[in-house]
Amino acid sequence: MATTFIDKARITVRAGDGGNGCVSFHREKYIAAGGPDGGDGGSGGHIILQVDDNLSTLMDFRYKRKYAAEPGVDGQGKRKSGKDGKSLTIRVPRGTLVRDAETNEIIQDMSGDEPFILCRGGKGGWGNAHFATPTRQAPRFAKSGLPGEGHDVVLELKLLADVGLIGFPNVGKSTLLSVVSRAQPKIANYHFTTLFPNLGVVYVEDGVSFVMADIPGIIEGASEGAGLGHDFLRHIDRCRLLVHVVDVSGSEGRDPAADFDAINQELKQYSPELARRPQIVAANKTDIMADDSLLEALRKHVEALGYPLFTLSAAAHQGTRELVFAVADKLKELPPVAVYEPEYVKRPPVVDTQAPLNITVEDGVYLIEGPWLQRLISNTNFGDYESRMWFDKMLRESGLFDRLDAMGIKDGDLVSMYNLEFEYQH
Ligand code: GDP
Ligand code: MG
Repeated sequence: MATTFIDKARITVRAGDGGNGCVSFHREKYIAAGGPDGGDGGSGGHIILQVDDNLSTLMDFRYKRKYAAEPGVDGQGKRKSGKDGKSLTIRVPRGTLVRDAETNEIIQDMSGDEPFILCRGGKGGWGNAHFATPTRQAPRFAKSGLPGEGHDVVLELKLLADVGLIGFPNVGKSTLLSVVSRAQPKIANYHFTTLFPNLGVVYVEDGVSFVMADIPGIIEGASEGAGLGHDFLRHIDRCRLLVHVVDVSGSEGRDPAADFDAINQELKQYSPELARRPQIVAANKTDIMADDSLLEALRKHVEALGYPLFTLSAAAHQGTRELVFAVADKLKELPPVAVYEPEYVKRPPVVDTQAPLNITVEDGVYLIEGPWLQRLISNTNFGDYESRMWFDKMLRESGLFDRLDAMGIKDGDLVSMYNLEFEYQH
């Protein structure tokens, strides 16, 4: 069974384009010239992300990397609007970070239940019925739909757990999780048995519980990328508390105090901040200790460093309740599980304004179109002052205003570009 745990994936997502508006005139027998009746294009569907607790890995994204929502349908005659494109909801496991593939900035931390719109569908263009005014009775123009947003993103799973189990392989982490929760991790007397992180809910007493994560064993050199552990350390990034399991039986000829230091050294190399996270030491396999000299040496060692130590035999269910209560007590004083703030800011697109725009005058309205303008408009947040200034700068740089002046545009004339319409002011 060679199933790999996938906790990182790069995907390309694209919202649907807006449908085009329609130019059409009402036609009926015996009526010579009907009014404009071209309908609007439908909006493109969004790309939406949603947490699904039935998912625990990003495996699906390994096989399917491209996701597109439906485009809006073009408008039709008889004022018939095009249908909106269907949004596409992509389900992700709880704790999935969404990052911009280029800058690695966090776009969203999918740890709550709120759906998140990752890419907005393009707005549909207006049909000519929209442009009929008392003075402009036969508009021969309609608007193109705007393109939907697209994005290359990296999904990265960082489990949401209060407590992370750390320690060498085979020390009894999975056993402990299975004993204190209803999780059924794989347990075997074999190093690297845990290939998947496992989450278990530990019920302490009425109304008190916490989530514990068992990650594959950290091994020496893991933080430099050797072996398994490295990839998995990210799953304890959010943990509020670490339970450091150490085998004190001596049955494998290990030195518990040295093991303890080695794991902490690994943590430190991966993240100094994570190495400072509070730890409770769980000295395990006390049932098969030859004597307690290794245990006492470990106790002295860790207590000198300020860590509390609990003795247990996970396999024999001894000492596990005491550990669970100590963990619950400690959690009460710790801050909640970390949720990452978005870092990504949508930047106005850099467009090449050299390509000339298409200007036509219909019924006294200046219609302006062109690929870069379309892209600029669909990526500009007009609610934001700086974005508006940038938009204005791009138009100015392109020489559009000079061309309009040369064409004799007057203050108050209507300028229309895609879903924007404004009165010209010098
Ligand atoms: P992990 O690699 O840290 O997850 O370790 P596992 O939970 O898979 O346990 C490794 C082996 O140690 C298994 O054979 C367990 O049955 C055994 N084991 C775990 N806890 C104890 C314990 O308290 N006493 C004894 N004697 N064996 C244990
Ligand atoms: Mg295990």
